[in-house]
Amino acid sequence: MKILIVGAGPTGLTAAVELARRGVMPRIIDKRSGPSNLSRAVGIQQRTMDILTPSGAAEEIRKEAVCFDGVAFHSGPRRIAKLALNFDDKSRLYGLPQDRTEHFLARAFARYGGKIEYDTPFEGLTQDETCARVQMGGTESPFDQVIGADGAHSAVRAALGLEFPGFDLPGQWSIADVESPDWRDPQCFQGFLLPHGDICIVAPLEAARFRVIASRPDALAALPVPMNVTNIRRSGAFTISVRQVTDYAVGRVCLAGDAAHCHSPAGGRGMNLGIADAADLAGRLVDGGLAGYHAARHAEGAHVLAFSETVRKAVQSKSPLRRMVMPWVMKLVAAVPPFQRAAVHYFVSG
Ligand SMILES: Cc1cc2nc3c(=O)[nH]c(=O)nc-3n(C[C@H](O)[C@H](O)[C@H](O)COP(=O)(O)OP(=O)(O)OC[C@H]3O[C@@H](n4cnc5c(N)ncnc54)[C@H](O)[C@@H]3O)c2cc1C
Repeated sequence: MKILIVGAGPTGLTAAVELARRGVMPRIIDKRSGPSNLSRAVGIQQRTMDILTPSGAAEEIRKEAVCFDGVAFHSGPRRIAKLALNFDDKSRLYGLPQDRTEHFLARAFARYGGKIEYDTPFEGLTQDETCARVQMGGTESPFDQVIGADGAHSAVRAALGLEFPGFDLPGQWSIADVESPDWRDPQCFQGFLLPHGDICIVAPLEAARFRVIASRPDALAALPVPMNVTNIRRSGAFTISVRQVTDYAVGRVCLAGDAAHCHSPAGGRGMNLGIADAADLAGRLVDGGLAGYHAARHAEGAHVLAFSETVRKAVQSKSPLRRMVMPWVMKLVAAVPPFQRAAVHYFVSG
């Protein structure tokens, strides 16, 4: 079976690894000139580690990643509660910059003999009952199946003429990757509720390196507690869209990852969802049929979009009543072990 994967982000790389592991070597192209060095997605769920275990990628990730020891909530600078993690398999959460996760996926693909074709942009496709003809890097080749894993602005999705319905959130979010040698509680994922429905998050990336993200333009200025920043590796701003494609599969072409869905970083699900799409798709392709791919992954994507919007709306609520009650609810949850376990399962693996 001739399979083309468009996009060597975490979704495309997982599809490549999972196909190669099952004995089907795909081609994988990317328009970039080489691996990305962007640290975008940080949080890796245990269920993602389970997917990446057979290929050996999870073991390499585990050696380098930070295993978060808890999730702490603050009202302004004041800590309200800390929920402990790691009390069972479903409550583990790892932190690693996305470029390192991609590095370990690319290494796993290379161990199976795979090679990523960089500098090869997807330019268009046509398909009929015999094959999909793909124009890429100035040439045209036939394939039995094409996987569009080319991100939120997917050219494969556009070539299929598919809608990407949803909405854009108002305002800008900001991000800073910083080094800080003495940040308090350095293995804890920390959220700070700010006035006017804003939020700031600090997530460990590696020893003495942290991601600060805020729903305001300047992430470091938004942080309501002091942080001794010795180096800012990268900072920037971004806007958020909440969208999901209408069809995950059209003929011989399937979409996965951000090409099929995008949402806010609340809940940290984007990369994990794309990796799960890719593993599901690879399994179906090797087992001989795409039946059920759209239904299964569209439903899961819709669930994750709803989850991340629920979390985002809860932490960004401007209702004075909700903002007054929330700290008490968090304190109660942290004080009662069964509530604490249920809350951790909801946030980390729900
Ligand atoms: C600032 C920021 C912070 C984030 N934080 C988190 C987080 O904490 N947790 C989380 O889970 N998610 C997070 N995300 C989202 C996460 O980064 C994405 O969900 C994830 O990268 C999706 O992976 P993907 O492989 O589907 O798409 P991408 O990573 O976008 O990869 C798509 C690939 O396709 C290639 N490509 C595009 N067009 C073409 C073409 N025409 N031809 C060939 N190749 C092409 C691109 O070069 C790219 O390599 C964050 C995103 C941003 C921007």
